Order: sequence, then C-alpha cells, then structure tokens
Amino acid sequence: MNSSSPGSGVTIVGSANIDIVYGVERIPGPGETLLASSAARYPGGKGLNQTVAAARAGAPTTFIGAVGHDEFGEELLATLTDDQIDTSLLRRSTRATGQAFIMVDANAENAIVVSPGANADVTALTDSDRACLQSTGVLLMQLEIPLDTVREAAAVAHAARATVMLNAAPAHALPAQLLADLDVLIVNEHEACLIGASDDLATASATLAALVPRVIVTLGAAGCALYEDGAEVGRVAAPRVAAVDTTGAGDTFCGAFAAAISDGAAYGDAAEFATHAAALSVQALGAVPSIPVRAAIEEARA
Ligand code: ATP
Repeated sequence: MNSSSPGSGVTIVGSANIDIVYGVERIPGPGETLLASSAARYPGGKGLNQTVAAARAGAPTTFIGAVGHDEFGEELLATLTDDQIDTSLLRRSTRATGQAFIMVDANAENAIVVSPGANADVTALTDSDRACLQSTGVLLMQLEIPLDTVREAAAVAHAARATVMLNAAPAHALPAQLLADLDVLIVNEHEACLIGASDDLATASATLAALVPRVIVTLGAAGCALYEDGAEVGRVAAPRVAAVDTTGAGDTFCGAFAAAISDGAAYGDAAEFATHAAALSVQALGAVPSIPVRAAIEEARA
C-alpha cells in the first residue's frame, strides 16, 4: 500500500450501464420467444456501482467514464450527481449508453448480454484526467472498459504515488506492466482461479499474491482472505445476514474498501469496513439502491 500517497479522495475509471432486467420462467433457447413476468431497469456497471459505494462510504469521489447523449445517459448522470460524485470528467459519447440485458429465471439463474456502447470510448486520457489521477489518493478500476485505458491510468496514478487498486472483473489476463503498477488486487474466487491459472483456490491466490503487494480474495458469505507480501495474513468473516440479493456485493466491497483506505484506515480495518458494507448490500434488492451510507456501515460495525 502506498502509505505516503500525497493525494486525496477516490477516483474510479470504469464502466456505467443501464441494467434492463426481465423476470422469465426459464431462459429461452435459440429462436424462442418468451413473455417476461416482470421488467425493471436500474443503474449499473461495475464502475458506476463502485463509485456510488465509495461516495456513500464517505469519500470525495470522482468518476471517469462515458455515457451517451440519450435518456439512459441522463439517468446515469443523475444517479452520480445524487450521490455528490464529481462528474466533471464524464465523457458524453456519440455511442449509446452501455446496456446490460439480464434475464433472471424462476431458479434465480441468469443470462446476460452486455452492449458496451459508450464504455468503449473510455480511451485516451485527457490532460484533465491525468491531473485528476495525479492528485487522487486512491485509484480504483475494473475490467469493463478498454484494457489500454486501465493500463495507462494505473501508470499515471502509480507514478504520482496514489494507491492503485484493481478489481479484476470480469476476469482477464493481466499484463505484467499493469500488475507492476498495482498496490491492491481484489478478486472473487472464480476470478482468482482464472487469473491465478489454477483450479485450486489456495494455489491461485498464492500465485496472485506473489505478483501484487496486497491481494484480497472475496469469498461470498464466507467473507474474504487478505494477502500481503506473498502470504495470507488474515481472514475477515462476513456477518451472518439474511441475503435477499447479492447483486453488487463485490462492487460495494470494493468501493467501501477504497473509501476507507483513502480515509487513512489500515489494511485489515478497511477490509472489515468493506465486509460490513457488503453484508448490508445483500439485504436489499438491486445493486445501487442497496449500497449503504457510511453511518449505516458504522452502525453495523458497532
Ligand atoms: P457479486 O458478483 O455478487 O457482486 P462477487 O462475486 O464479486 O459478488 P463475493 O465474493 O460473492 O463477490 O461477495 C463480495 C463480498 O460481499 C464478500 O466478501 C462478503 O463480504 C459480501 N457478501 C457476499 N455474499 C454475502 C452474504 N450472503 N452474506 C454476507 N456477506 C456477503
């Protein structure tokens, strides 16, 4: 961790989507048409979710992403500004706002098609983007925007001694230069095994821990495992709660963790704060609506 980071606040460079969710009895096959039993739409995208989570956890937060000049873009902009997020670096793209079409069947299995749209335009950092990355305390990213942008932003922030965090989701092979610029890598079990190239979680996690100074493997209802300098240094158990919807739990964890680190929390304390934030988020429906504010997280920890 870059404890001498001269900057402040949290900056997220990432995706923003509108999630369109259809309830269906079963996932349709090729050529089949089904009637949905419900339809709803929510703000989403890992970048936007994590941005909202960092802001609600109390960090001054800036979002660098892209939306279209359309109704969905306005909706996402309103979501960000409602949480006092700095959107001055948000790009308005000529492409449509990113959309995720999600079908959820009676067994809670889902099938998802994502149209990245404007997210493909989160490229070529501007001078203003660079200035922001040079003055931030924490940079947090995911892998739903072009990888070259993730690489470039990590290099700029790392050179300025910001704490650089990557939530490697969706899983993707990580270039050596990007790994070298990271202070913290956050992955779930599935991503750990894919990127760590082993079916055995302990082996995969050890592989990742040898590459990045701090690695957090989130373990769903079991909490998370913390690695530092190549070795496991602790686990944080998740509070036992009645989970109603785990969508966005990982995003809530990442955003809250980034906020706590930017506020000066120690590694273990920040992970514990994030674990409580994520446990709150699984107790309500939807990703953004279920992301807790700082006071609720503090209350849950007390
Ligand atoms: P998702 O894709 O559902 O957003 P993820 O697969 O990225 O999540 P998980 O490891 O499933 O990540 O969950 C992230 C964190 O959320 C966990 O480390 C834990 O703190 C919290 N969490 C998830 N599920 C539960 C649960 N059932 N009860 C309490 N906490 C949970």
